[in-house]
Amino acid sequence: MLETRTYCPNCHASELFAIQFKYGFCRLYTLHAGDAVSWGNGAYGMHVDGSHDVDGIGRSCPTCKTDYLEFSIRFDGDTVIGVR
Ligand SMILES: [Zn+2]
Repeated sequence: MLETRTYCPNCHASELFAIQFKYGFCRLYTLHAGDAVSWGNGAYGMHVDGSHDVDGIGRSCPTCKTDYLEFSIRFDGDTVIGVR
């Protein structure tokens, strides 16, 4: 799970979002921009070199209360760069 401040895709409020994604071993960890996912038993997918995007689903927006918000998380290899 990634925790980051970004804009709600629905109401465009700037909020702190917890975003679930499936890349590497991430279920038990809260990551922030600059952190890297690890690989091991239970990891999702395969390591990808270079810049790539991973789909993520955000918890409800504190402002508009919309659930299942869709985010695109930018990675450089295993490192989280940010949310687009
Ligand atoms: Zn919102």
